[in-house]
Amino acid sequence: MVSFVFYYFSLLNNLMMHTKLSNRINKLPVSQTLAMAAKARVLKAEGKDIISLSLGEPDFNTPDFIKEAAKKAIDDNYNSYTPVNGYLSLREAIANKFKRDNLLDYTTNQIVVSTGAKQSLANVVMVLVNPGDEVLLPAPYWVSYEAMVNLADGVPVPITTSIKSNFKITPEQLEKAITPKTKLLFFNSPNNPSGSVYSEEEYRALAKILEKHPNIYVISDEIYEHILFEGTNFSFARIKNMYDRTITVNGVSKSFAMTGWRVGYIGAPEWIAKACTKMQGQITSGTNCIAQMATIAALEASVSKIKFMVDEFKVRRTLILDLLSQIKGFELNKPEGAFYVFPNISYYFGKTIQGIKINNASDFSMLILEKANVATVTGEAFGAPNCIRLSYATSQKLLTEAIKRIAELLK
Ligand code: PMP
Ligand code: GLU
Repeated sequence: MVSFVFYYFSLLNNLMMHTKLSNRINKLPVSQTLAMAAKARVLKAEGKDIISLSLGEPDFNTPDFIKEAAKKAIDDNYNSYTPVNGYLSLREAIANKFKRDNLLDYTTNQIVVSTGAKQSLANVVMVLVNPGDEVLLPAPYWVSYEAMVNLADGVPVPITTSIKSNFKITPEQLEKAITPKTKLLFFNSPNNPSGSVYSEEEYRALAKILEKHPNIYVISDEIYEHILFEGTNFSFARIKNMYDRTITVNGVSKSFAMTGWRVGYIGAPEWIAKACTKMQGQITSGTNCIAQMATIAALEASVSKIKFMVDEFKVRRTLILDLLSQIKGFELNKPEGAFYVFPNISYYFGKTIQGIKINNASDFSMLILEKANVATVTGEAFGAPNCIRLSYATSQKLLTEAIKRIAELLK
């Protein structure tokens, strides 16, 4: 009885707090990737033997040469506020990186460094999107894109794909989705969550459609550019008529195993870079000084220094595809980049497993968590409700064990 009364009052209290919060925060969904990772952590702390395939985070240590640069920055007394758009020396390193890796010419005035690519993306949405503007989201898309658009009172317009098109949109689909209200297209290759990579020809075919609509801007999120197993990476801004309306987004989280350091950046037309700097100047100021110095070391190094991680991800990709393909009802595409697999598991919808009825991908993901102790993320969070996402940024041993558990549960 006492606990019931306590529960009742705490519920009431939560509800009252809720109504005091702004509509903006009340309608903002929690990030499903972060929520699932947090849930897995809590269950682990409670003593459950959870294997987390939820978070997209390399399981490697940040390479030593980057850590050394950070230590040196501390000893050299890098401790003051930094320029809002980032140290000039870092923006020079980024300009060189864009030239070296992407054949893109950006001056240091076109570059803004932020606290993670997540902030870079949020800045761009906030400075470009007016209430009612439509933003095209090829689905599946990374969870936070839609939330950012909603925060700016824009209208997310998903462009649905399926495993049959390798989760890629066609020029015809793009053309159909465009209206006079379209302001922005989010583009992400290699893609989180599908791992799909667009070829140069595919980029150019999409650009042909966009050429007819000069008022549409493109965010090209290239954060997984180096985690690529086949082919080469291309960039929207490489296309002549797209350069002036493309914002190229990148960061060090994925390629350099630096997720916690929080450094992302954009290369963009100067007026957009200036606007992002103004936005950031009122919200967070310049990025952490030590992390910026470490990022210079990361970006100036040869890409060959991180090849060992990419090689390992490639081995794991083969392993997880091999293991999952032996489970009934898992329809798979072959990811060419990033470190996720995104199987269609709709075969299980309507079925009851260990007393739990599976109505959708969220139910399936929860079933796996509760009964197999494996954390994944529901495809609903990525605008693809027939799929779940498994991150293979974890050891081969844990991957093998995780898939074995899933297979046993579904047998
Ligand atoms: N874009 C994509 C597609 C991502 O998967 C992530 C991962 N968090 C980000 C952007 C943001 O990366 P970060 O903020 O760690 O730089
Ligand atoms: N990008 C990663 C993921 O998709 C990290 C979590 C996040 O920032 O959403 O899992």
